[in-house]
Amino acid sequence: MSEGKPGLDLAIVGGTVVDGRGRPGSRADVGIAGARIVSVGKLGEGTRRTIDASGLVVTPGFIDVHAHDDLAVVQSPRLEFKVMQGVTTDVVGNCGMGVAPVSPAYRRYYETFLASALGEGADFTWRTTSEYYEAVERAGTSLNVACLVPHGLLRLAVMGMEPRPPSDSELAEMKDLLEEALAAGGIGLSSGLIYPPGIFATTAELTELCRVVASHGGLYASHIRDEGERLLEAVGEAIRIGEEAGVAVEISHHKAAERANWGKVAESLRLIEEARARGLDVTVDVYPYTAGSTVLGVLVASALRDEADPDEILIASAPHHPELEGKTLEELGRLRGMPPLEAARGLLQEDPSVVAIVFSMAEEDVRRVMRHPVAMFGSDGLPSTGGKPHPRLYGTFARVLGTYVRQEKVLTLEEAIHKMTALPAAKHRLAGRGEIALGYYADLTIFDPASVADVATYQEPRRHPAGIRYVIVNGEVIVDNGRHTGKAAGRVLRAGR
Ligand SMILES: [Zn+2]
Repeated sequence: MSEGKPGLDLAIVGGTVVDGRGRPGSRADVGIAGARIVSVGKLGEGTRRTIDASGLVVTPGFIDVHAHDDLAVVQSPRLEFKVMQGVTTDVVGNCGMGVAPVSPAYRRYYETFLASALGEGADFTWRTTSEYYEAVERAGTSLNVACLVPHGLLRLAVMGMEPRPPSDSELAEMKDLLEEALAAGGIGLSSGLIYPPGIFATTAELTELCRVVASHGGLYASHIRDEGERLLEAVGEAIRIGEEAGVAVEISHHKAAERANWGKVAESLRLIEEARARGLDVTVDVYPYTAGSTVLGVLVASALRDEADPDEILIASAPHHPELEGKTLEELGRLRGMPPLEAARGLLQEDPSVVAIVFSMAEEDVRRVMRHPVAMFGSDGLPSTGGKPHPRLYGTFARVLGTYVRQEKVLTLEEAIHKMTALPAAKHRLAGRGEIALGYYADLTIFDPASVADVATYQEPRRHPAGIRYVIVNGEVIVDNGRHTGKAAGRVLRAGR
C-alpha cells in the first residue's frame, strides 16, 4: 500500500454482524475494497469513508427469490420499493411469466394479461434472454438481477395458446429455446401452472424441460397447479418432476389457500421433508402476509368454484376504473346493484387487466411455513404501475424483521437473516453472495433492530419501511442514512459466470 492512500473504500464500524450463516451475531467491523469484503473483525487500514453502525445490525443484503420486477428493472431501475427494504438481489422470471424470450404471440399476451402485473408501456427492445440481460445492464439497475426462464414464454413462442400437450417437434423446439436461455445465464426454469398457457402443460412436458435444466445445474421453481383443495397432489407433482429430471426444486409462495384447506401445509411440508430424505433438494419460499394477489380473472374463476367470500377480495389496480381501487368485491356489488361475482365479471369485461388481493390464508400456516428450515422469503410483489398494490411489494423483508422477529418471536434474528441471504444464495446459485465473509461481494444491509418495521398497508401500500439505514450493493452505497442515492451498482448475475 502506498503512503497516504487508504486501503479500504468503505469501513462499517461498531455494528453487530449477523453473517447470514445462522450463527449468533457478534460485534465486528467490515472493510470493503472495490466490490468485495476484504476484512471482517478489526480494521487496521485507512479508509475513504466510514459508516458508524453502533446500535445497528450489519447483514448480507437480502435476496428476493420471488420477484416480478422483470420489466421494472429496465423501466425504473432504481427500484426504490425493493432497495429501501434492504433487498440487494432480485430473482425475476417467476411463475412461468416474465419478459424474455419475446415472440410475436407473447407480445399480444403481454398486453392482455401481463401488463397489469409487470407494468404498462413495455417496448421490447430485446428478444432473447441474453439481449434482455444486456438491456438490464444498459438501464443500470440499483440492485443485482438473476433470472429464471419462464416456461409460459417458451410455450407461447412455440405453440401460442394451444390447450394441448406439445408434439415431439414442438417439445424439441421448446428445449432449444430453454437451452439458449440457460446458456445465456438463466438460473433455472419457472412454471405457473394456474395461468394460461402454463395450465396446459403436462407433467411429462415439464419433466422433459427440466432435464435440460438439470444439465446446466439449474433449479425448477414452480407456482404449483393447485394451492387449495389439491395442494398435496400439486406439491407431489413438483417433487416428481424434480426426482425424475434430477433437478433442484423450489416451491413458490408456499401456502394453503381457502379456509377449507387451512392446516394442510403441515402435510405438504412433510412431503417435502420425505423427498429431502430421499435426496431431492426441494425448498420453499413464502411472503409474510395472509393475503395473496394476482389478476382478478384467475381469482373470479376459482371463486366460482370455491364460493370465496367477496368481502375477502380487494381490487388492487383497475387501470380504467381507478375509483374502484381499494374496494372489496362486496362493495363493488353494492355499487353496481348486483351480486358481487357478477359485478366482478362485468368489471373484467370493461377492464380485463384488473389485479386483486385475496385474504385466503391462515396466520398459523404462514408462521408454520416461515419457521420451516428450508423456507426462504420471496415478496411476490407486483410492481404494477397504478393502484394499490399488495403491501408485500414495499414491506416484505422489513415485516419479517419487525413483526415476526422482534414482536412475535416466530424466528430469531439470525434465522430470519439466514433465510433472506445465505439460504437463497446457495439455492439460486448466486456465487460469492449471501454471507459476510472474506472475498464475498459487499452486498450489505444495515438496520436498526429496535425500529425496523413495515409501514405499507393495504390502503396505503406505497410506503417505505422504517429502520433500514444503509444498503450497499457491490461495495457502493445505494441507501445512505435512509435515502436512495440513485446509484446503479447492480449487476446481472448470470449463472455459471
Ligand atoms: Zn405465482
